[in-house]
Amino acid sequence: MISAEDLKTIPFLASVASEDLARLAQAAGDLRLASGEYAVHEGDERALFVVLSGRIEVTKLIDGIERIIGARAPGQIFGEVPITFGTPFQGSYRATEPSRVMQVSARQFHALAAGAPAVLTHVAALASERIGGLRGIATAPTRARAVMVGHRWDDTVRELRTFLSRNQITYDWITPEAPDLASRWPGPPLADADLPALICDDGTILLRAGLRDVADKLGLQTRPRSSDYDTVVIGGGPAGLAAAVYGASEGLRTLVIEREAPGGQAETSSRIENYLGFPTGVSGEELARRALQQASRLGAEIMVTRNAVGLDAVGKVVKLDGGEPVRARSIILATGVSWRRVATEGFDRLLGKGVYYGASRSEASAMQGQDIHLIGAGNSAGQAAMFFANHARTVSLVVRGDSLEKSMSHYLIEQIRSKSNIRVELHSEVRAVHGDKVLAAVDVANRATGEVRRLDSGGVFVFIGADAETDWLPEAIVRDARGYVCTGEAVTRSGRWSLDRDPYLLETSVPGIFACGDVRSSPVKRVAAAVGEGSMAIAFVHQFLVQSAHAPAG
Ligand SMILES: Cc1cc2nc3c(=O)[nH]c(=O)nc-3n(C[C@H](O)[C@H](O)[C@H](O)COP(=O)(O)OP(=O)(O)OC[C@H]3O[C@@H](n4cnc5c(N)ncnc54)[C@H](O)[C@@H]3O)c2cc1C
Repeated sequence: MISAEDLKTIPFLASVASEDLARLAQAAGDLRLASGEYAVHEGDERALFVVLSGRIEVTKLIDGIERIIGARAPGQIFGEVPITFGTPFQGSYRATEPSRVMQVSARQFHALAAGAPAVLTHVAALASERIGGLRGIATAPTRARAVMVGHRWDDTVRELRTFLSRNQITYDWITPEAPDLASRWPGPPLADADLPALICDDGTILLRAGLRDVADKLGLQTRPRSSDYDTVVIGGGPAGLAAAVYGASEGLRTLVIEREAPGGQAETSSRIENYLGFPTGVSGEELARRALQQASRLGAEIMVTRNAVGLDAVGKVVKLDGGEPVRARSIILATGVSWRRVATEGFDRLLGKGVYYGASRSEASAMQGQDIHLIGAGNSAGQAAMFFANHARTVSLVVRGDSLEKSMSHYLIEQIRSKSNIRVELHSEVRAVHGDKVLAAVDVANRATGEVRRLDSGGVFVFIGADAETDWLPEAIVRDARGYVCTGEAVTRSGRWSLDRDPYLLETSVPGIFACGDVRSSPVKRVAAAVGEGSMAIAFVHQFLVQSAHAPAG
């Protein structure tokens, strides 16, 4: 416990009477931190901290990267800004060596200051000084971590842009014909065959840059750090990230394998209105950003740009593209779904050149001032329409049916009605897309009258549903007729369960391999369900590991 003696040497407490010091010492929190442990995180509620021994560094997430912005030595305090202005913490405080820190709650602080007003003056003065520094950080121009040169309609450029923004990496993108190319590209002159070219913030130049190289150079994890894990989660959407948060926080050595960037489908959603705890909605991007931070902070490894391409169900080995195996004691399938393809004329040829499946927020700038077409009548199409309406000149929602009401939430229909540049074309379908190198026009047919109109188009986005891509899984993992992975009771019903005990609710037909989120055979496809199932999967992993530890050696 902290003693009044410990506090006598702290400068800001010099004016406090001995009995008040004794009371504070008795009531305050006594945090003993190991190296790397946090006293408080960015966004946490206000409190005041006093460093009694050791050393604390101050970190702040700037541009998705945790940067060190200060340090505190014994005798110094932190939390003066939150306690004075009633705001959450603007940085995180982490021990760099074994440290001891006193934690004073807001109530204790104000009781103390009532008896010794000099304490309040001292802390408030420090807070004002500190605000100046924080303002400097907040207003410093953000430097792009990468500068990319590439053609507007190059599919790799599009993939890279989506990848960089989904991984929260700020970048500058210049097309080779841009008049200011010479002043914005800091590298040597480029030939067309070098594109896309990318220069990273450490000066490395990548020519004909691919996702994996870019991820490597920008410090993202692309290889497993170990060869075996307690649990390997395949897929980094809401279900996979929830499993990672719970797995890592409960002490399991956890690896997430994600073929693109964390966030999954939810990342492409401009506003999720129905996720608990966000009364005004939250963008999928923001949710993904927070989940990724949380999973990484708790110690999960998140590996990006790696595809799981095979799985040995008996040995529990996941095969990655590129060949290396990752061994696990349990596996969680959280691979979600992928957009369903259409067989319309011209689509395959113009894919990535104005025609897209789904929509990512990074597309918005390319759609500025254009007339665009969205195919679909579900919530995904509705959300995308709302998002693009702020960028495109007009957004046409091409709907085969006679109303939106059957497939879209009421609140979205209302929002769409309030936007004057969104048109809903009922009884309609896109029959063909046209363009030489890039999309230029679409043929929209009225299914009721048979009339076909050719309309200028700057972008066609398809949202006609999604399917589970599970062909790469071994036969031993039972799936339903549409490819979704069966779990629990459905496995029992399939007659393919081999153990005496029943399969756990989220367990597949292979003991110790679980499935959660959209990839699981279940009618519910929602962020909240995916998150719930991801966290539940970890509870079943624990039960499976305990049970297999006690199983007789066979
Ligand atoms: C535009 C849009 C708007 C939406 N709006 C809402 C909403 O408002 N409210 C709501 O509740 N739900 C909404 N949804 C649905 C919600 O996003 C999904 O239910 C949820 O994302 C499912 O999460 P998941 O983790 O199961 O799968 P996903 O989000 O699909 O994530 C799966 C991840 O696995 C990765 N992956 C797949 N295969 C492999 C492999 N072999 N190797 C490695 N990685 C792999 C993928 O790249 C992906 O990142 C929306 C969906 C879309 C597309």
